[in-house]
Amino acid sequence: MAKNKLVYSFGGGSAEGRAEMKNLLGGKGANLAEMASLGIPVPAGFTITTEVCTYYYQNGRSYPDALVGDVARALARVEKIMGARFGDAEDPLLLSVRSGARRSMPGMMETVLNVGLCSKTIPGLIAKTGNPRFVYDAYRRLIMMYSDVVMEKAAGIEPAEGKGVRQQLDRMLGEMKRTKGRATDADLTADELRELVGRFKARVMEVLGKPFPDDPTEQLWGGIGAVFASWNGKRAISYRRIEGIPDEWGTAVTVQSMVFGNMGDTSATGVAFTRNPATGENRFYGEWLVNAQGEDVVAGIRTPNPLNEDTKNQQNRHLPSLETAMPGVYRQLDKIRRSLEKHYRDMQDIEFTIQEGRLWMLQCRVGKRTGTAALNMAMDMVAERLITREDAVMRLAPAQLDELLHPVVDPAAEKGADLIATGLPAGPGGAWGQIVFTAADAVAWTREGKTVILVREETNPEDVEGMRASVGILTARGGMTSHAALVARGWGKCCIVGAGSLEVNVHGKTLSVGGRVLKEGDILTLNGTRGNVYAGKLAMMDATENPRFVKFMAIADGIRAMKVRTNADTPEDAARAREFGAEGIGLFRTEHMFYGKGSEQALFLLRKMIVSSSEAERRAALAELYPYVKKDIKATFEVMDGLPVTVRLLDPPLHEFVPTREDERERLASALGISPTQLARRAEDLHESNPMMGHRGVRLGVTFPEISEMQFRAIFEAAVELIRDGKKVFPEIMVPVVGLVAELDDQKAIAKRVHDEVCAKYGVKRIEHMYGTMIEIPRAALTADKIASTAEFFSFGTNDLTQMTFGFSRDDIGGFVPAYVDKKLLPADPFQILDREGVGQLVEVAIQRGRATRPKLKVGICGEHGGEPSSVEFCHLVGMDYVSCSPFRVPIARLAAAQAQLTHPREAKAGSGVRGQGSAKAKAKTKAKQGTGHRARGTGKAKAKARAKSKAKTGAKSKTTKKPTARGKGGRKR
Ligand code: PEP
Ligand code: MG
Repeated sequence: MAKNKLVYSFGGGSAEGRAEMKNLLGGKGANLAEMASLGIPVPAGFTITTEVCTYYYQNGRSYPDALVGDVARALARVEKIMGARFGDAEDPLLLSVRSGARRSMPGMMETVLNVGLCSKTIPGLIAKTGNPRFVYDAYRRLIMMYSDVVMEKAAGIEPAEGKGVRQQLDRMLGEMKRTKGRATDADLTADELRELVGRFKARVMEVLGKPFPDDPTEQLWGGIGAVFASWNGKRAISYRRIEGIPDEWGTAVTVQSMVFGNMGDTSATGVAFTRNPATGENRFYGEWLVNAQGEDVVAGIRTPNPLNEDTKNQQNRHLPSLETAMPGVYRQLDKIRRSLEKHYRDMQDIEFTIQEGRLWMLQCRVGKRTGTAALNMAMDMVAERLITREDAVMRLAPAQLDELLHPVVDPAAEKGADLIATGLPAGPGGAWGQIVFTAADAVAWTREGKTVILVREETNPEDVEGMRASVGILTARGGMTSHAALVARGWGKCCIVGAGSLEVNVHGKTLSVGGRVLKEGDILTLNGTRGNVYAGKLAMMDATENPRFVKFMAIADGIRAMKVRTNADTPEDAARAREFGAEGIGLFRTEHMFYGKGSEQALFLLRKMIVSSSEAERRAALAELYPYVKKDIKATFEVMDGLPVTVRLLDPPLHEFVPTREDERERLASALGISPTQLARRAEDLHESNPMMGHRGVRLGVTFPEISEMQFRAIFEAAVELIRDGKKVFPEIMVPVVGLVAELDDQKAIAKRVHDEVCAKYGVKRIEHMYGTMIEIPRAALTADKIASTAEFFSFGTNDLTQMTFGFSRDDIGGFVPAYVDKKLLPADPFQILDREGVGQLVEVAIQRGRATRPKLKVGICGEHGGEPSSVEFCHLVGMDYVSCSPFRVPIARLAAAQAQLTHPREAKAGSGVRGQGSAKAKAKTKAKQGTGHRARGTGKAKAKARAKSKAKTGAKSKTTKKPTARGKGGRKR
């Protein structure tokens, strides 16, 4: 630490830092440095590194010795560039102190502006600017921010609800406006503001027991300390948990000379995006306020003006745009927009201030965007030759695909609906839910299983957890660039802000609009894409078809090295998965044919087989069951039309299928010609203490070979009959819960015999198939060399493998794994994100040993992890040939696999999915260029249809975001 540089300066056309130094300088500091070097007008300043933040927390909230001197030197440089001195009585320089993490955390940490105003500098600044109103306005802002951020929050004071110093000062400001008859802050006169700051200081003393600091240096260091402290503030911590940002990263602190947007009518401040962050449209999009400081725009206190004529909307149509109000500045800003996009090759989110007609850039960063916008921008930028196809593939987070296929309000339902308000379309898609008025209620109601919409007066970063819990967010005030809008958009959450006709009464928990009053719990529907608010619940449907999605996925498909299959248990699932681009079935859980509607007779026969007490009885029941099993398998083979289908032999403990209902038991007993008591006894005999580690999987086949025999016959006959009809079928027979090669051999002998019998019956020589196993028991992984002597393929059942490796029952983790994650004993739930360190090691070992025996061993995964992006990356890294996941996660897995290939190009080596095909990278490149996407299957339309159908069933909830249950398979208990 001692040797490391602690402070990096920027401004005056040069900088010590660069855009790539985000880890050290935070996003803000790094980009300010970059802009300064590009010759873009940036107020001079310096950034204290994130390493100082780490030091601060590791050393009892103290700083490295050298910091004071380094800051003084950097400050002197700023003074020189800006031609003014910090704390000077005649020409004082004022500073802002801002946070900056390496990944943006909008509004989650603190900022202090106007640092340096005190009794010594105020007269000088008034004399210099000739604008006492401006100076007192800046001073009252400093007091409000500083007392809140530095004197209260950073000091660890937790005031009662409504009693925080900031809230008290806010109320005093409101009172002043009322008593003086002023409509807005900007209407208060210099004298009124001077009076107000006097009262503010007295209130600060009264509330916090300390005078407001009157020394510029004390203010500066107070601000620096408060920004570091805000890294561990409550909302920053909540946000990090949600976004998965490590606590160790820390924040940088950027100290920058102030420029003022509140110096009168030729001054302004604004926030803009170089393209529309909600739709992706290539138009300069933003908001600005005349005579205001930065926080006025993002806090949603005033409805901001539109940046240009093109992008006006319902709410701001009557307000002048920057383009017309200050055409020269607008042109300069537009030029900067173009050069930033060209330089960064991505959409930027920028903050600017105009001080007396002069433009200054305060920030630029890669802008958050909706999934739709991400897709549209990526494809546009490819067309504009700004980025390559490979870049485009990296521009969408796999989870954003889910958002792309988000439900929207059905336009047909919307036509006659009861529109009660309109606002700004800040977050995409549609949502309906019961309204709640506090973040805490949103969290609590959601926990109770309710679907809620959070309604707030204005957007507030403290609401982050409530926003997360809600399906939609609605606010009466605020603009498209308000913090909540940014956050919601980042999550792809439906959000409407600035619906000005709403009157929100948080205390009474009511919402008044157009003479009607809605109470907590009433239902609203939001169209976040259009900004419409409707009373009641409207029907939802899938996002409209976007041909760009299909094209984008085709590019991704051309890049990836792994195949993507699906876990499908019914012909309908299989068909849907194909529409999502599945290239085969990686897991067909045959037992699922006994669940759900239409399965009653097959289930009855299965039960008959289960409670049979002799082989003869069992064989008789199996013979009756056989046609059902064969029919189901055949239908699935047919849908997959030549793609590989991995059929797994029956896996679950049989006792799960024993009926519990009295009438069903009686029917079963009578079909078997036994008494209900005898049946009860047989059922009791099937009971197990630990069914998940009991008589299941291959163990059933070992003890009752006739069960496996029936299944092998069904598979072979289904296949041969389809082949006879000219169809292509590639069955892969998969044996579950294997720990010994001997188990596999035992079953293989049966499979071989049945295969030969079926061949003889149908007069064919051989039925093409593979015989393989799941690897879901650690012993199987460790003895994979032996297992591979029989198995032609491995499919990692990482649900069970995780269960057995950790010794965590997958059915019971709810009681303790969340606590492990909270306490950081585990980085994540290992049933959702594959544990690379432990389970991953077994996977790697198994692949190496398996391929040592059988170099062409085909390897895939079919545990829930197969559709989770980080786990997909792991599968790529260890050389799997394919991943298999639930139908709705197939697009996510396709993109994650492409990104894995781009980030870690697979070299052509034995055992990889690109065996013997030259450099995978080269291959990826050519394919991406061709953009043929030969692997893409199904049209988007079909996809949308499939989703709509399923959504109708699932109440419009997104399936892909659903947490995989520990039990896998749609939550059915095993
Ligand atoms: C597994 O264990 O990962 C698996 C896919 O099988 P199941 O979830 O059916 O036990
Ligand atoms: Mg399993």
